[in-house]
Amino acid sequence: MKNYDVIVVGGSYAGMAAALQLVRARRSVLVIDAGKRRNRAALHSHGFLSQDGVDPAVIASTARAQLERYPTLSWVDDLVVKASGSRDAFTVERAGGDIHGARRLLLATGVSDILPAVHGLAERWGTSVFHCPYCHGYELDRGRIGVIAASPLSVHQAQLLPEWGSVTFFTNGVLELDEASQQDLSMRGVEVETARIDRIEGHAEVMMADGRQLSFAGLFTAPKNAPSTSIAEDLGCVLADTPMGTQIQTSDSKETNIAGVFACGDVARVPHSVSLAVADGAWAGAQIHRSLVWPEN
Ligand code: FAD
Ligand code: MG
Repeated sequence: MKNYDVIVVGGSYAGMAAALQLVRARRSVLVIDAGKRRNRAALHSHGFLSQDGVDPAVIASTARAQLERYPTLSWVDDLVVKASGSRDAFTVERAGGDIHGARRLLLATGVSDILPAVHGLAERWGTSVFHCPYCHGYELDRGRIGVIAASPLSVHQAQLLPEWGSVTFFTNGVLELDEASQQDLSMRGVEVETARIDRIEGHAEVMMADGRQLSFAGLFTAPKNAPSTSIAEDLGCVLADTPMGTQIQTSDSKETNIAGVFACGDVARVPHSVSLAVADGAWAGAQIHRSLVWPEN
């Protein structure tokens, strides 16, 4: 079994940003990545400085190519199925069966999106159904926007989106709006639709159960998030509730309650974006390095 200073589980924006700091300090790093970036359904990524509008796969592959120039970087495309051990002596098992050792572990495994069960919605996720207005609102060109309720948080989404277009809020049997919310939404010009949605067709055609067809430039929904794997829980890491679901709890230095196990990116912070995942990863990488330099701290 080969031993590394650090194993990074999850080689997307957060994990790669951490690995970059570590290999630049000549530490040995193994990145293991299952290749399921959260934004893999989107063709354009917006809001990340110097990469606005670029294909998110290109941002990731450019980062990986730059990382792979460093001789202390190892990379395998695989799924981690198990992690165990303690500080200075962790082991990680891959689906392929191989086992690797490391002094520190970084979980940059991202979150999964639990989408509302509306027929036709999942297929349009990332192309005409979105969750982040800062990422995808501008391109809708101030057109008609539909917000499909998924949780009580959807009210906030319906309140925010009039900044990007004229909004219809579908409560779709998920929510009952109180008087104050109704007044607030009406003050913002949001139209509330309480009839049930049957399905979504075409680009963003909402087909109502009562037979009406409503057309939109784009649709938004606020999915629940949860860590995309149970590795953190298997290690004994404490999870924390967020307005969007659950994440791994960390200290300011991105270390979990299990000494030597760190977490960063979407799985360990809210809100979520490429910029924030990169910043969180860069910080986590430096903090892991410092924990190797000053193990007594
Ligand atoms: P992720 O990118 O989710 O990567 C996690 C990685 O860990 C994946 O490669 C996964 O396969 C791997 N992994 C998980 N478990 C394991 C395991 N057990 N073993 C090995 N590997 C594992 N943000 C923006 O700033 N701009 C945008 O335009 C934008 N558009 C988006 C569009 C959509 C549809 C969605 C859903 C999100 C969008 N985001 C956007 C948000 C952005 O995608 C996330 O904030 C960002 O991807 C988080 O990066 P991350 O590295 O934390 O996690
Ligand atoms: Mg992450």
